[in-house]
Amino acid sequence: MLAAGSALVRPRGLPGAERLFDIDTLDGARRLTGHLRGRDGYAAVVAGAGFVGLEAATALAARGRVLLVDRSPVVGDGLGPGPRPVIEAALDDLGIERRLGTTVAEVGDGHAVLSDGTVVEADAVVWSAGLRASDLTRQISGDLDPLGRVPVDRRLRALPEVFAAGDTVAAPFDDAAAILAAADHVRLDLPFFPEEGTVPAA
Ligand SMILES: Cc1cc2nc3c(=O)[nH]c(=O)nc-3n(C[C@H](O)[C@H](O)[C@H](O)COP(=O)(O)OP(=O)(O)OC[C@H]3O[C@@H](n4cnc5c(N)ncnc54)[C@H](O)[C@@H]3O)c2cc1C
Repeated sequence: MLAAGSALVRPRGLPGAERLFDIDTLDGARRLTGHLRGRDGYAAVVAGAGFVGLEAATALAARGRVLLVDRSPVVGDGLGPGPRPVIEAALDDLGIERRLGTTVAEVGDGHAVLSDGTVVEADAVVWSAGLRASDLTRQISGDLDPLGRVPVDRRLRALPEVFAAGDTVAAPFDDAAAILAAADHVRLDLPFFPEEGTVPAA
C-alpha cells in the first residue's frame, strides 16, 4: 500500500519566492501565523483559489484584508461548478477580493506584483497553487494523472498486488472527476469504511 502523500508545488524562478508562505504543513502554517501575529488589519494575498487556497483565504479574512488570485477564470476550478455559488457567496460575505485570470509574478517587501503588472499591498503572500503526489507513484505506473497520482480502481488497487491511498491516488469520484481529498475515500467500495451517508459527524 502506497500512502506517501503529496507536497505543495512551489513556483520555480519566481522573484521573491523565499518570501512566500504556505499552509501545506503544520510548520508552514505556524510560520504564517507567527508572521501575522499582532498585525491585525494586515493585507494578505493568497495565490491559488483551490481547496487549500480557499481555506487559507477564508481563515485569513478573520483579521485582515485578503486578495485571492488564481490564473483560472473561476474560483475552485478543480471542485467543479456545483459548489461554486456557495463558495462565491462565502467569499463575498467575508469581503475577500478576487483577481482571476492572473497570478503572482513577484513578491517583494510588503507588496506583490501580479502577472498583469498590478502592484498590490501584501504583508504575506500565501502560495497554494497546486500539489503533486509523491514521486514513488512513478514506480507503480507510467500513466499518472496531471497531479502525478496513480490510477486505481474503486478498491484502491493500482496493480494486482499493489494498492495506493490518499493523495497518491487518482481514484474515480464519479464519471467526470477524480477524488480530491482524503475524506472522499468514504465514497469508495472499501469494506472497512461505513456506507456512504453513515459517517458520523465530526
Ligand atoms: C490546509 C489543508 C487543509 C486540508 N483540509 C482537508 C479536509 O478538510 N478534508 C480532507 O479530506 N483533506 C484535507 N486536506 C488534504 C489532506 O490533508 C490530504 O488529502 C491528506 O493529508 C492526504 O493524506 P495522505 O496520508 O495521503 O498523505 P500525508 O498526510 O501527506 O501523509 C503521507 C506521509 O507519508 C510520509 N512519507 C512520504 N514519503 C515517504 C517514504 N518514502 N517513506 C515513508 N514515509 C513517507 C510523509 O512524511 C507523511 O507523513 C487538507 C490539506 C491541507 C494542506
